[in-house]
Amino acid sequence: MFSNSITSLFNIQYPIIQAGMIWASGWRLASAVSNAGGLGIIGAGSMYPDVLKEHIKKCKAATHKPFAVNLPLLYPSIEEHINTIIEEKIPIVFTSAGNPKTWTPLLKEKGIKVVHVVSSSKFAQKAAAAGCDAVVAEGFEAGGHNGREETTTMVLIPAVKKAITIPLIAAGGIATGKQMLAAMILGADAVQIGSRFVCTPEASSHQNFKEAIIQANEGDTMLHLKKTVPVRLLKNKFADTIKEAEDKGATAEELNEILGRARAKKGMFEGDMQEGELEIGQVSSIIHEIKPAAEIVQEIWNEFYTTLQNPLTL
Ligand code: NDP
Repeated sequence: MFSNSITSLFNIQYPIIQAGMIWASGWRLASAVSNAGGLGIIGAGSMYPDVLKEHIKKCKAATHKPFAVNLPLLYPSIEEHINTIIEEKIPIVFTSAGNPKTWTPLLKEKGIKVVHVVSSSKFAQKAAAAGCDAVVAEGFEAGGHNGREETTTMVLIPAVKKAITIPLIAAGGIATGKQMLAAMILGADAVQIGSRFVCTPEASSHQNFKEAIIQANEGDTMLHLKKTVPVRLLKNKFADTIKEAEDKGATAEELNEILGRARAKKGMFEGDMQEGELEIGQVSSIIHEIKPAAEIVQEIWNEFYTTLQNPLTL
């Protein structure tokens, strides 16, 4: 049986973690990944407090294996989510988009393992100093929120490995077992995979979005909104409008006005492929089918393990 710092830390079978993505990662996806031997994560960023509670209850009923909650620290009802996580005795929390110093001490005091998502070595060191148990280092290829420096996963992972001693999870541009092996050779102890798990029947994303992802080609995603919160989006009418405004030098206020409210929900959950925000990674160009999460976990693990036996002949 495979065992390393991450499988031991989370008490899971495979070092494969499903990203806690807004409008995609509800209890169905998280429990399916955990049941398959990876770590499933509920994405709390798009959930009102009562919705998060319901997803946690349903996830507990659907799996006896560990699962986590992802909490973007920018979230408006953060304290209510933190209280729910403590009350429900969630064993692992992934935090992102904020300062890890704010909530890590309280969560740790309650016996919860805390992992923070970073996009640079400097932030990885800050997360380690704040007492986090591990970091996710997410490269430029990743979908959704992203770093400003545009550091790719290939460059980021070895740099973060040098900068910290706590376990390291690689993210951004990973959807296959060979990509997982490459990340682990560069120094990662596990991988976090987002886009690949959107293309599953269990993801709560709209079917139109899943189908758009499997049709996506190289170059079909782009990083936008560096003046506000940088985000990688699939090209559509809305992304073109944002790009045009950015090319003309729009201010942060003007960009926020174009963005409005609930753009992500409109695109990824309600299926408006023209006016919605479609957050997905570059790796969408190599994803060609929608299949169950358990099959994806097994396929990635089998490819990782087979390639590991004989890396240069495959
Ligand atoms: P908006 O402000 O545009 O919209 C808020 C959305 O969140 C609405 O769709 C709303 O649903 C829903 N929502 C859930 N709970 C609440 C709440 N307590 N108060 C207000 N709205 C709530 O934000 P975004 O959709 O762009 O982002 C939402 C969250 O997701 C943020 O916390 C953001 O940081 C996070 N996020 C994380 C990403 C990542 O990569 N980690 C990527 C993108 C966003 P309704 O319409 O039903 O009211």
